[in-house]
Amino acid sequence: MEQRVRRRARVEGVVQGVGFRPFVHSLATRLGLSGHVGNDVHGVFLEVEGTTAAVERFLVSVTEQAPPLAVIERITTDELAACGSGSFEIVASEAAGTRGTLVSADSTTCADCLREMLDPHDRRFGHPFVNCTNCGPRFTIVRDIPYDRPLTTMSAFAMCARCESEYHDPADRRFHAQPVCCPDCGPRLRLHDAAGVVLPGDPLAGAVAALERGEIVAIKGLGGYHLAVDATNQDAAATLRKRKHREDKPFAVVVSGPERAEDLCVVGEDEQALLTSPRRPIVLLRARTGTALAAAVAPGNRRLGVMLPYTPLHHLLLRQLDTPIVLTSGNVADEPIAYTEQQARARLSGIVDVFLSHDRAIHMRTDDSVVRSFRGREMLLRRSRGYVPQPIPLAWDFPRHVLACGAELKNTFCVAKQHHAFVSHHIGDLENHETLASFAEGIEHFRRLFEVDPRLVAHDLHPEYLSTKYAQGLDDVELVGVQHHHAHIAACLVDNAESGPVLGVAFDGLGYGTDDTLWGGEFLLSDLVDFRRLAHLEPVAMPGATTAIRQPWRMAVAHLVSAYGQHLPAELDLLRRNEQQWPAVADLAARGVSAPPTSSAGRLFDAVAALLGVRHAINYEGQAAVELEQGTDLDERGSYPVTVPAGGEPLRVPGSDLVRAVVEDLRAGVAAPVIAARFHNGVADMIAEVCTRLRESTGVSTVALSGGVFQNMLLLERTTARLEAGDFRVLVHARVPTNDGGISLGQVAVAGARDRCDSAVLPR
Ligand SMILES: [Zn+2]
Ligand SMILES: [Zn+2]
Repeated sequence: MEQRVRRRARVEGVVQGVGFRPFVHSLATRLGLSGHVGNDVHGVFLEVEGTTAAVERFLVSVTEQAPPLAVIERITTDELAACGSGSFEIVASEAAGTRGTLVSADSTTCADCLREMLDPHDRRFGHPFVNCTNCGPRFTIVRDIPYDRPLTTMSAFAMCARCESEYHDPADRRFHAQPVCCPDCGPRLRLHDAAGVVLPGDPLAGAVAALERGEIVAIKGLGGYHLAVDATNQDAAATLRKRKHREDKPFAVVVSGPERAEDLCVVGEDEQALLTSPRRPIVLLRARTGTALAAAVAPGNRRLGVMLPYTPLHHLLLRQLDTPIVLTSGNVADEPIAYTEQQARARLSGIVDVFLSHDRAIHMRTDDSVVRSFRGREMLLRRSRGYVPQPIPLAWDFPRHVLACGAELKNTFCVAKQHHAFVSHHIGDLENHETLASFAEGIEHFRRLFEVDPRLVAHDLHPEYLSTKYAQGLDDVELVGVQHHHAHIAACLVDNAESGPVLGVAFDGLGYGTDDTLWGGEFLLSDLVDFRRLAHLEPVAMPGATTAIRQPWRMAVAHLVSAYGQHLPAELDLLRRNEQQWPAVADLAARGVSAPPTSSAGRLFDAVAALLGVRHAINYEGQAAVELEQGTDLDERGSYPVTVPAGGEPLRVPGSDLVRAVVEDLRAGVAAPVIAARFHNGVADMIAEVCTRLRESTGVSTVALSGGVFQNMLLLERTTARLEAGDFRVLVHARVPTNDGGISLGQVAVAGARDRCDSAVLPR
């Protein structure tokens, strides 16, 4: 008889509430193994016994064939003596079995559930809430731990006998699927008008008819309400823009399947994989021209945000509709997305014609995530639904629990313990009471969910950020101020599982510097503990302070003053257009009155966009730079030179060289798209040249690129290519955004690194 062996294994990661035990049970049974599997505080423990070959096969398959929602971080095994056990069993969880483990993210309806929903003979035919251990809501419905039905928003629904038997059957794919339900016992759809009056008839058919009529429909999703219109109906899309007070920012659309995405956009292989991933993010794709899409959906944009249906309700709607639909956050202007019925009614009634709602409550508001593909790799621009709360694993441990409060725009927070950093869902711009409340509630929720009791609290250095004030208002914690751009670079390091030192290029709108001025065009020798500011863009005045952010033409005037002094080239269109106002603005800039200096790269892009007549005033953050990129001649290879000064620390890099070159080409009648391209190329060359200089003095040849300016794909691509051509190793973001949504991860990493080692490791 062949020799029998027994192995014990421990599996860590997101392995609970994702169907891991039934999966192990069926795998072991199939391979003729005996033993057991169970949950405890660390994850899943198991023992298997059988022939050497079968046991080896099991240990390989357990990773390779793991359920879709499982994220295995580590498997450790050891040998035991075979004991001749006969069967394979799922054993009871330890009392604290579900504590201290990881809650999974919400996931799109799986193929098995879809099949049931579309099968007229299945008891879940047409059921808009079908789910199983491999799919469905998770993070958005969890109220507390342990992750068990009574502590989710499904507690309001008592399971019927049939659902209950599935729930308790280890061989069933609904074994311990907390949101399990059916048409008999689950939530129900409801269609009502803006006044809250329930409309008669089938809610789904009613919503479809409303969309077909060109009306605006609010649809309750996984993480909040969406606003939907027929994406091919110009009037409907334009009305939605008007009512939502969203002038220009593109809307995302949902299409019924990948082939419909192809109708609207060019979809590469990597992008196809992103579209169809169970996380179902909005994927930014290159839009085709001359499609059926209404112009008001994404005016003047080369890119279109596309996603596939991710809830059973979306699937049912899209199957009945013959058209792509706009699906945009249910909010007005900059408010957070509405997620309770009450909020939706109060805030969306003026926008919406009908509401397609239901009675399964959303506990955590969560926006759609936004991604794109960069060099074949997924790059997150907004990390939220489908990704949160999956932790970022780190190579080292946090000695004490940490909370990081993030910055202000596109805020996220982050909590960390052991070797995990939990970056929050996208909170939004921390500029109003509503968002601040959402931020504070989110922090409390994460503290409970992951049992984090922060002793260290990291925050931005900006004294006026609400996130800084929140940190300063906490009792009995040690505060750790982290410079904004250092946090950007630290985030990029952690994103790439590195610890530096690197030459960090942090280009963004604005961040508070250690000298109390506003930075944003920074070259930092940086590791996780500390940084040295080796170079930066020459500061330029921001005439009218924050007004200059909303009115890029003011930045153009300031940059002209910086480049030309008293004698501005008055024949420029920009100056003619602002004839009445520019002298006063130039005066503010020249005298530095109400005009704080900034080294911001974002403001330099604003200035050039305004000079080219692309955008004089903005309706959303970063709009001028976005439109400048969109309007670039992609074939133009010319580049504007920048003279990098020979010495000094920090080196002061003159952005005025670029501005003068732009002005000369404008005077020579060169077309704006060509000038925009030469400017982008000039910035990329300048970054490579400064890094080359800094490599000579530091010996560091790895560059990390971070900050909101690198959302500009053209700049990111060209900068990366030039650096690589110069033999640099280049780190860019992937798992957290390069914009301020990544700041909290960087802050957490810096606080943790300082806690482990209290002296700076950088050469002084
Ligand atoms: Zn399923
Ligand atoms: Zn049921």
